[in-house]
Amino acid sequence: MSTVAEPTLNICHIYPEVLNLYGDRGNIRCLQKRLEWRGLDCTVSELKLGEQKDLSPYDLFFIGGGQDFDQAVLLEDLRAGKGEELKAAVEDGKTFLCICGGYQMMGHYYETHDGQRDEFLGAVDFYTVGGDTRMIGNYAFRLGAESGGSTVVGFENHSGRTFLGSGVQPLGTVLKGFGNNGEDGTEGVRYKNVFGSYSHGPILPKNPAFTDFLLTTALERKYGSAVLEPLADRFEHEAHDRVLERVLHEK
Ligand code: GLN
Repeated sequence: MSTVAEPTLNICHIYPEVLNLYGDRGNIRCLQKRLEWRGLDCTVSELKLGEQKDLSPYDLFFIGGGQDFDQAVLLEDLRAGKGEELKAAVEDGKTFLCICGGYQMMGHYYETHDGQRDEFLGAVDFYTVGGDTRMIGNYAFRLGAESGGSTVVGFENHSGRTFLGSGVQPLGTVLKGFGNNGEDGTEGVRYKNVFGSYSHGPILPKNPAFTDFLLTTALERKYGSAVLEPLADRFEHEAHDRVLERVLHEK
């Protein structure tokens, strides 16, 4: 781990003022807190609509969810340069946590239920098509082995149905609820160190194992290796397990 007096990780929150549903910025607090409990620190910066900055100092990006209208507002800004920079950061192995509307933004396009097509980044091989019913509710999924294999509990609310291309993995397999499209049992996407999910709520405080997995990807990329000290977090894990039981048995 780093011995120089610089922050352990630099986190960048993309479009915090637009993609801001369901308290998803709590994910950043959770990342910060689990670093802090281990005596590690981080910086948190924001990158808003109309702003440009060099993304190379950042190790971990967070993009939250937004409604169809909010997503369309971003198109011009993405084309003005931010899109290419984000794609370069993806290819460079930077860690991304992207939720719902922010997840859809990483794919090729989002076609709304009334036929409006937003051409998105194409940073990851998938597309999304809006349906005329929404997929809403508490849900649960199991992460793929390459994403740590733990269970995740969350809340989903989307009309978009996401279909993955052949070169990418789902983030996990649905245990209860809809996930990517309500049809193929997949939830979210994993490509390089991009983690896309429909899980609002925010996802990380309810899923400590997944949070540490995300942090590990960013630390490993930056420092070559990373071993996170175990925390006295029995209550977080018990809360997760209790919620999982409830979600699995909810009618
Ligand atoms: N607009 C998208 C949908 O409904 C994303 C919604 C969200 O981020 N909650 O599919």
